[in-house]
Amino acid sequence: MKIVLASRNPKKIGELRTLLAESFPALEVLSLDDVGLTDEIEENGDTFEENALIKARAAAKSGYIGVGDDSGLTVDFLGGAPGVYSARYAAIEHYAGGHDDEANNRLVLQKLEGVPERERGAAFVCAIGCVLPDGREFTVRGEVRGRILTEYHGNGGFGYDPLFFYEPYDKTLAEVTPAEKNAVSHRGQAIRAFAEQLKQQTI
Ligand code: IMP
Repeated sequence: MKIVLASRNPKKIGELRTLLAESFPALEVLSLDDVGLTDEIEENGDTFEENALIKARAAAKSGYIGVGDDSGLTVDFLGGAPGVYSARYAAIEHYAGGHDDEANNRLVLQKLEGVPERERGAAFVCAIGCVLPDGREFTVRGEVRGRILTEYHGNGGFGYDPLFFYEPYDKTLAEVTPAEKNAVSHRGQAIRAFAEQLKQQTI
């Protein structure tokens, strides 16, 4: 069985390969480049699920199982923002300092200035979309809840991790090992749900 992941990020492809290997020992995980799909994919959905399916449909043009993912941070006090715009939050809001992780984090802190701890709830969300060669489609979602701190803690992880406090660990997701993060993260949960669904749909 072959699946094509709509990504050019070797880290993401490696991660999916490792996490799916347990359930599907004979599975080959390919990238868009591996199958010669070079078109830019326009991620213009309003939800994580829509974006994941847009990417999965693009990958399914290969004739193999197409898989796409989308993830981000949703902050309760900000009505779910930055949401699907998580990667480009600072740039979209014209916040000086660019659109990198550092600027995104500073902007979230600024927007939550003075907001009390009990109102700083947030979640990381990851949706995975899948399109099978016969046209069937499905999505799965993983979510982890936490709280946005008022300052950075930890150097691990990426993106908004240093601000995302996860109560059961009493740490931010930038202060835990990759294995600890995978065990509870939105992406870890979504990948496990995806493996389960894929098994059900393909046997
Ligand atoms: P993408 O799904 O790779 O496009 O991720 C979108 C953006 O969401 C990233 O650029 C990060 O800003 C944020 N994000 C997604 N997952 C995580 C995470 O596990 N930790 C921190 N930030 C994340």
